[in-house]
Amino acid sequence: CGIIGILGDHEVSPQLVEALKRLEYRGYDSAGVATVDASGQLDRRRAVGKLVNLSDRLVHEPLQGHAGIGHTRWATHGAATEVNAHPHRRGPVAVVHNGIIENFRELRDEVVALGLQPESDTDTETVALLTAWHMSQGLPAVDAARATLSRLHGAFALAFLFEGERDLMVAARKGSPLAIGHGSGQMFIGSDAVALAPFTDRITYLEDGDHAVITRAGAQVFNAAGELANREVQQIDVGA
Ligand code: GLU
Repeated sequence: CGIIGILGDHEVSPQLVEALKRLEYRGYDSAGVATVDASGQLDRRRAVGKLVNLSDRLVHEPLQGHAGIGHTRWATHGAATEVNAHPHRRGPVAVVHNGIIENFRELRDEVVALGLQPESDTDTETVALLTAWHMSQGLPAVDAARATLSRLHGAFALAFLFEGERDLMVAARKGSPLAIGHGSGQMFIGSDAVALAPFTDRITYLEDGDHAVITRAGAQVFNAAGELANREVQQIDVGA
């Protein structure tokens, strides 16, 4: 339901939760964050119910790292449980997702046939599973995400984070909105500009079928044909 991603210059987990609070108005049943810490380790925390449950969890089990993604979930596939909450993770890949992957049953059967066992009832987890499988076959993170994206049907927005990659997020949009925020030496992803308002007013809206490879140096946007696309940076007035 709500997506946030930050490549920041200090601890991001409080910022991720702050940004998710700005997305609360959209409604949600659970929430979670994942970060990559200074040693490259990918880790996540999730909680059912209000964001305060997630922040309480983070007080007792803090998450370090200057790169992270966060999500508020409005369940469409699978009950509102911690196991079904995002980020979904398999091996080196964590994913947050808005919308629906329509062909997830077919994809899930495929990954099960490849020997990967899903842990959740969500459509989203198949995205993490498939991407992790591509990486296990030797594809670099960005190529693995692309290989997965090329298989997905439905209306969705996605953000990927990878173990060992402290300066990388991949974002994709098809049918659900997704914005990239440009900071100075920091970069952001948000399911709407409201979530990004505390961080930046310089926004690039992804177009349908776009995906973006984001580092602190900036974002490269590719269109549905995989060609480098020129998407303008807009100065927006969000009334933060
Ligand atoms: N379909 C996904 C799920 O049920 C994402 C729902 C959402 O947009 O929050 O987990």
